[in-house]
Amino acid sequence: MKNHNWQPATRLIHSGTTRSQFGETSEALYLTQGFVYDSAEAAEARFKGEDEGYVYSRYANPTVSMFEERMCAMEGAEACLATASGMAAISAALMCGLKAGDHIVAARALFGSCRWVVETLCPQYGIEATLVDGRSLDAWKGAMRPNTRVLFLESPTNPTLELVDIAAVAEIARDANARLVVDNVFATPLYQNPLELGAHVVVYSATKHIDGQGRCLGGAILSDKKWSDETLFDYYRHTGPSMSPFNAWVLLKGLETLPLRARQQTESAGAIADFLADHSAVSRVIYPGRADHPQADIAARQMAAGSTMVAFELASKQAAFAFENALAIVGISNNLGDAKSLVTHPATTTHKNLSDEDRDELSITGGTVRLSVGLEDTGDLIGDVEQALAAI
Ligand SMILES: *Cc1c(COP(=O)(O)O)cnc(C)c1O
Repeated sequence: MKNHNWQPATRLIHSGTTRSQFGETSEALYLTQGFVYDSAEAAEARFKGEDEGYVYSRYANPTVSMFEERMCAMEGAEACLATASGMAAISAALMCGLKAGDHIVAARALFGSCRWVVETLCPQYGIEATLVDGRSLDAWKGAMRPNTRVLFLESPTNPTLELVDIAAVAEIARDANARLVVDNVFATPLYQNPLELGAHVVVYSATKHIDGQGRCLGGAILSDKKWSDETLFDYYRHTGPSMSPFNAWVLLKGLETLPLRARQQTESAGAIADFLADHSAVSRVIYPGRADHPQADIAARQMAAGSTMVAFELASKQAAFAFENALAIVGISNNLGDAKSLVTHPATTTHKNLSDEDRDELSITGGTVRLSVGLEDTGDLIGDVEQALAAI
């Protein structure tokens, strides 16, 4: 069932659905490891690739395939492989295309585990890694070497919501015959389309907005079919980062409500950002939907809307902790994209492993607070933030 004229909300409900002989309304959950064949000849044909069917759920599974097809329809990608987590997606997308002697360039403002893969894991396999200030195109250009094969970035970044000009970095990658991989978690598939901007591969942690209700881990790698078939698939099949069919089923249901949730969460996030900007206890608000974002021009160019995330600066670590502890609705958690609003103090949690110098480079201070805005009533959320700021 494919119709590329459908709007995203329609695609996210119908694309990729295959029904069993029972004609069920909701997607079927094929909780099976393997598949049986009608005959030895049928098994032989399946293994030869002459017959299209399923072989083993580490390679592919009907429920997981529905999730992958729906993601393709959303993203306008030819191919998708679903993974057990966002990190499984990102590490597979990076490692499958790199070998000893190659070079990777990544923006230094990365999700903590992504930074570990680039900075620590890659060198263990003889892959050289350079981290750059992703906001500077000169830094990207200056880091390129003849053996650079992969460029990697996220935008907006975690936690300070910096932006990277995806189209410009994609051009640098193309000129060097390298591939640009974009972690699109913070923008969601609704607000930014890296493939349209020239990126080669898009990766998601489906754990975040795609589930949206804090239940399952999952990830996705979206790309052209040739790269997926020739470079990624053998890595995926033989190293086994596959998504569980149960999680695929939950995430399929998540995709159905993604536009509604993202719209409401973004609307609340924008209102909270505006409220914070006018508050005397807040020295700085960073929100891609606001005109005072340092890269508002890039936001306007490559993003359809702001974000469900807001970052802001309080006076000190003490002030940030007092704020967090006083919140009544918003929970303290390192997670994000959930129906429940969540607050994080990056310097002491998600980014605690960075050196002081690295944190300074990313503008993460003791007073930096990251808020993931959920689905609660906007007025209630602003009220909660207001009373917690008063408690500092
Ligand atoms: C959460 C997250 C990841 C990792 O995803 P998991 O599903 O937790 O493995 C990667 N990148 C970004 C930007 C994230 O927010």
